[in-house]
Amino acid sequence: MMYTSTRDRSVTASAAQAITQGISNEGGLFVPEQLPQFTKDELAAMVSQSYIDRAVTVLSRFLTDFTADEVRDCAQSAYGSGRFLAPEVAPVHSLKDGVHVLELWHGPTCAFKDMALQILPHLMRVSASKTSDGKEIVILVATSGDTGKAALEGFRDAPHTRILVFYPENGVSPMQKLQMTTQEGGNVGVCAIRGNFDDAQSGVKTIFTDPTMRTVLAEQGMMFSSANSINWGRLVPQIVYYFSAYCDLVAAGSIAMGDPVNVAVPTGNFGNILAAYYAREMGLPVARLICASNCNNVLTDFLRTGTYDRRRAFHTTISPSMDILISSNLERLLYHLSGCDAELVAGLMKELNETGSYTVPAALMEKLRSLFAAGWCDDEQTMQAIRTTYEQQGYLCDTHTAVAVSVCEQYRAETGDNTPIVLASTADPYKFSASVLRALGAERDDEDEFDKVDRLHALTGAPVPPSLAVLKGKQPRFTQVCDRDTMEQTVRALLAVK
Ligand SMILES: *Cc1c(COP(=O)(O)O)cnc(C)c1O
Repeated sequence: MMYTSTRDRSVTASAAQAITQGISNEGGLFVPEQLPQFTKDELAAMVSQSYIDRAVTVLSRFLTDFTADEVRDCAQSAYGSGRFLAPEVAPVHSLKDGVHVLELWHGPTCAFKDMALQILPHLMRVSASKTSDGKEIVILVATSGDTGKAALEGFRDAPHTRILVFYPENGVSPMQKLQMTTQEGGNVGVCAIRGNFDDAQSGVKTIFTDPTMRTVLAEQGMMFSSANSINWGRLVPQIVYYFSAYCDLVAAGSIAMGDPVNVAVPTGNFGNILAAYYAREMGLPVARLICASNCNNVLTDFLRTGTYDRRRAFHTTISPSMDILISSNLERLLYHLSGCDAELVAGLMKELNETGSYTVPAALMEKLRSLFAAGWCDDEQTMQAIRTTYEQQGYLCDTHTAVAVSVCEQYRAETGDNTPIVLASTADPYKFSASVLRALGAERDDEDEFDKVDRLHALTGAPVPPSLAVLKGKQPRFTQVCDRDTMEQTVRALLAVK
């Protein structure tokens, strides 16, 4: 299995190269040249497997330059070392009316990012041993809240690795901020930026693709890589849990093998839902992909009209990890749906960069329309979804998951399509206690973050994740703030290179 770039088909890379490099030199994203196919029998054989075995089954089809032992060792280290508190790793909780919540937040940082970022350091270690000539890898991360902490936890004290994280100063929840600023480890750095997630992400991309920086790093025996979902090593582990959820539903008798399901995903950078698209293309019986957004609804408009237009107000919402106007992974989808037309993709991305907008050709739009449904909801509707799901079904969900719940209700009301839904649940509610309490009508403003956690627990009985509880009283270690324009200097200073 070889990989190429979304912007230049003459690029070829092995999985190990794609994972260590993170992004292709001309700015394109690595994509597999073809997708492995799973027959119904192969799928049926996965039903009785553990999560780790399912991961090995899927990953080994993509990581063909890894040995079987290497793939198993990576999966075992990530999902079998006790860092996921649910024995199933990614359990499915079935609600009424055929909505099945796929809980992706039982890892160490309580967000779905752990599903990929617990294994990425291992994939990177093995990849580097094949490709990087002993260079030290410097991971640069832009985060809308959850990736930063998950990457810090995954890479802390990993040998031959350093990690630097940039987050929007006012764009993350208090718990998310505390998780990052108190991070331990000898190879980590965290800096806030004055700006939003898109500023952080474009800053990181600029530093990555700057040839001067690359040379400066090389002179120090270092190279950059990415832990954002532009890295193929982030996406491929996410494909696994869609296979796993389907198998769990078959095992539970909720569906029969071969029955279609819809998949609904609260979406920001388009990584999670793209993984569901890949699973579908690999033979998983997925009918439609339901893309749920908050009021930063650039994807809803795009999937309905074919015009991507980021020239609009940026809103700070109660689902901050979805406050994004430039969804990087859409580029990969455009590549696949255009029949691997790298020239078209390069042109569209250039247009987006220069004018802030692009429109896809009609044929591509038709394919988008047949695969995807899209919807959005505002903060009020998000809170309403939290409240009704809790009151009517006794199930507490976070503010991101609730966006998908709300959009699924709209989707079913509008279309009458009652196909069972696998709904990706992306964070633990305690990461957003203030908003969840407000949704339940139990808001108070005279208490600190941990009082809120305690009260939410008293109110609902939902277990408080130990990794959040231990942050109480911890002093922040990283308090630096920089501008979009001084990110490069900050990186140089943190790495002690000129
Ligand atoms: C990152 C994140 C999302 C968005 O996922 P994408 O893969 O960027 O679309 C949604 N919810 C939560 C809680 C997240 O951390």
